[in-house]
Amino acid sequence: MSKTILIVDDAPTMRQMVNFTLQTVGHTVEEAGDGVEALNKVKGGLKPSLVITDLNMPRMDGITLIKNLRALPGFKFTPILMLTTESVEGKKKEGKEAGATGWIVKPFTPEQLLKVVKQVVH
Ligand SMILES: [Mg+2]
Repeated sequence: MSKTILIVDDAPTMRQMVNFTLQTVGHTVEEAGDGVEALNKVKGGLKPSLVITDLNMPRMDGITLIKNLRALPGFKFTPILMLTTESVEGKKKEGKEAGATGWIVKPFTPEQLLKVVKQVVH
């Protein structure tokens, strides 16, 4: 079933890859370049079924974004996946504590992305 998914990353190439991949299976994708832009979209009425966020971004990082989203009434149970690298084990823990549902390790293939997304949106 088609869902609206928000991808938050400061790298346009990453947003494009995620956007394209999710569109191939029928999802609608919204993009934001950092946490501030993502929060503004959400506060403007965007209600994604899933948020995928990078961690390192200007203005507002992924951990701060996750904390802010979890503080909103409509986002208590929304799946949030973070994009991370294997080298930052501590960040996974920090992300979990902030309220992330899970993570995707970079770099990843379109197939790996779709597999993880399928586990959290039905
Ligand atoms: Mg980044």
